[in-house]
Amino acid sequence: MPNAESIHLITQNVDGLSGRALHEVGSLDASTLANAQKSIIEMHGNLFKTICTSCGDTHIDMRQPLSDGLRGTEDLSGAYKSIAAEQLPRCAVVGCNGLLRPGVVWFGESIPELDRIQPLISRCDLILVLGTSSTVYPAAGFADVVRHSNHGRVAVFNIEDPASSTDGDVDWYFAGPVERLFPEVLGL
Ligand SMILES: [Zn+2]
Repeated sequence: MPNAESIHLITQNVDGLSGRALHEVGSLDASTLANAQKSIIEMHGNLFKTICTSCGDTHIDMRQPLSDGLRGTEDLSGAYKSIAAEQLPRCAVVGCNGLLRPGVVWFGESIPELDRIQPLISRCDLILVLGTSSTVYPAAGFADVVRHSNHGRVAVFNIEDPASSTDGDVDWYFAGPVERLFPEVLGL
């Protein structure tokens, strides 16, 4: 897309996969990589990010488990286990020791990245909707803004049959597995 002013990836995934996948693209120099990294917006946050509930310190922490108290808690069978509060993940900032929470957007919370997303959507002239059922708002409404307010174009890539999809009002609908169709359409 040589004439594109800017390209952004807005993802609802919380697995951090898009950012990590960039590092697998061997041909990127450091500044291209940094710019690409910045163009990824994880609107529902990142499961590997921790946020201190006291001082607000955030960072990516890939340790599993995050604390000894959480060891074995991935096994959801059996009875609930109680975990002492002091064994929960704690902030490492000197003198803080606040409780850490996952850096994801929980139900009922506002989406912090929306302030960054809305201006991008309001001047977007082409949106590619990849592998989503477009049922979770506000993301589900982005294509409508592009098509009806911006008079831009909408391309949907979805495994669902177009007849059973709610994305009727689009310019292009590519039905099938996105991981196969998307590279084909881009000629990669
Ligand atoms: Zn803290």
